[in-house]
Amino acid sequence: MICNKCGAQNPDGARACMRCGAMLANGAPQNFNQGYNTYPQNQQMNNIAPEPGRGLAIASLVLGIVSFFCVGVIAGILAIIFGAMAKNQGNKSGMATAGIVLGIIGFVLSIFGLIILL
Ligand SMILES: [Zn+2]
Repeated sequence: MICNKCGAQNPDGARACMRCGAMLANGAPQNFNQGYNTYPQNQQMNNIAPEPGRGLAIASLVLGIVSFFCVGVIAGILAIIFGAMAKNQGNKSGMATAGIVLGIIGFVLSIFGLIILL
């Protein structure tokens, strides 16, 4: 195994050059495996670091739906707050916007409901 970088002789199966520390190319099949293994690792990193404010956006959407159907003032306000917080954290999904819109509609409907009841 000869280092491509400095030409030093290294033992077969060595992963890094003993003289310069460069990664050693171990032939085409292993290079293919390394490339194949890199892809799922990137996928995992995407799963570990999801969209910013995603939880808040989901909470906003759920509360928005709850306020819409159950005519809840508090749920509507919370949906607007969570949606705004998700947007502040950089969430660009439609969920935060939908949560805010549903929260406003639910809030307005619940105010009308209270006026009618009173
Ligand atoms: Zn080397």
